[in-house]
Amino acid sequence: MAHEGAVAGLEEQDRESCSGDAGVDCEESNSKDCILEPLSLPESPGGTTTLHGSASVPCIFCEEHFPGHFPVAEQDKLLKHMIIGHKLVIADVKLVVDFQKYILYWKKRFTEQPITDFCSVIRINSTAPLEEQDNYFLLCDVLPEDRILREELQKQRLDH
Ligand SMILES: [Zn+2]
Repeated sequence: MAHEGAVAGLEEQDRESCSGDAGVDCEESNSKDCILEPLSLPESPGGTTTLHGSASVPCIFCEEHFPGHFPVAEQDKLLKHMIIGHKLVIADVKLVVDFQKYILYWKKRFTEQPITDFCSVIRINSTAPLEEQDNYFLLCDVLPEDRILREELQKQRLDH
């Protein structure tokens, strides 16, 4: 009866309250794993690039590329670029086994769906007047798709 629609509406609200408060309501989103489709990881990112060659890693949002060997210093440059230029913060990025594939995966996904489908919004400076407040997007493994992606990358690394 009419009650079914009401239930679906509630789930929507649940998710909204979760994304508004980064990291606190994380447990709730775990139960939504079942709605995910299987992930398809890019097999050979960028076509000619390889993990061990001089591949470069693109910014998720623009055409800027960063050197690919990715010592941590270079990785930080890309991360800083994305924080300053695009207001995206990636949580626990040091734990990502394959940074290049991780970035390429999200670059593709962000062209398919709006960033707000994936990221929590963090408000910086929340005690300041509204016009001085700043919203950042947080990509972290609270999002089931992100967690599965990180686990997949780990598995692939172990297989090789
Ligand atoms: Zn960029």
